[in-house]
Amino acid sequence: MGDPRPREVQDRAVDALTRLVRDIPDFPEPGIVFKDITPLLADPAGFGAVVAAMAEAGRDERGAVVVDKVVGMEARGFIFAAPVALALGVGFAPVRKAGKLPHHTHRVDYALEYGEAVLELHRDAVAPGERVLLVDDVLATGGTAAATCELVRRCGARPVGFAVLLELGFLDGHSALGEVPVSSLLTV
Ligand code: AMP
Repeated sequence: MGDPRPREVQDRAVDALTRLVRDIPDFPEPGIVFKDITPLLADPAGFGAVVAAMAEAGRDERGAVVVDKVVGMEARGFIFAAPVALALGVGFAPVRKAGKLPHHTHRVDYALEYGEAVLELHRDAVAPGERVLLVDDVLATGGTAAATCELVRRCGARPVGFAVLLELGFLDGHSALGEVPVSSLLTV
């Protein structure tokens, strides 16, 4: 028996995503198709399958863990990043919206489709030289992920990968990530 092979882990995750993530048209505003992950979270087998598959982004081809920390972005990123960190046996650090973190932070302002947003990370959340895996639910324009990479770099650490459930292919979020490899379970 033993552990399932990486291919099998990915197949189970893609099956869960296909069955358990639903499209909500025109939410939160007209023209946006919102990817609702709540049915996936309610299904422990499906939830476990996607966490196992996302954690593969923090291992090499022999299964060895190659990251020192997992960073998740508020709010849905937290749901996946924390169990991915535990699966890899490394620490978790939250990236939060402005004014939520209590200690000294780095902050990055970035452009949204309409307007601006601010993300923050505690200065001591990742150590200089650490290899950091980013985790979120959806990659859209890539603005959130690019700002998170910048926060990690300000700490002197290195973003080495971005694991995401779903990538909206038509928005080309990949290019905002530059050299940082993106592992998406499904591109829609
Ligand atoms: P972006 O910065 O444009 O890549 O947007 C990514 C962030 O917005 C992620 O944290 C997602 O949770 C959220 N997001 C963007 N588009 C969608 C969508 N269509 N459905 C669900 N969440 C989305």
